[in-house]
Amino acid sequence: MVFNSLAGHKSRFLASKGRGKIKDLQARSPSMVTMACIDCGAVHFEAATLREMLTAMMPHYFEDHKDIMAGESSVSRETWMARFTAAFTELQDAEKI
Ligand SMILES: [Zn+2]
Repeated sequence: MVFNSLAGHKSRFLASKGRGKIKDLQARSPSMVTMACIDCGAVHFEAATLREMLTAMMPHYFEDHKDIMAGESSVSRETWMARFTAAFTELQDAEKI
């Protein structure tokens, strides 16, 4: 019985996830998430929101991933941002479950 209600809760949660993802992340007051650099994985950062995580990672990116910051990498900024958002959202969802 407990498992059934948990499963129901989870699917409702997943169903409501699609729309306005980034807006949702900013509107809630989520718990801290620890995330490794998505390009080298050598450093970890802690932040509560996507924006804070971006800000926290900036100095490291300017130091070690200048090509991405300068838009000279083979990965476009949009692609990078999509990867970053996906990685952060995944970690944040994992914290909750
Ligand atoms: Zn890195």
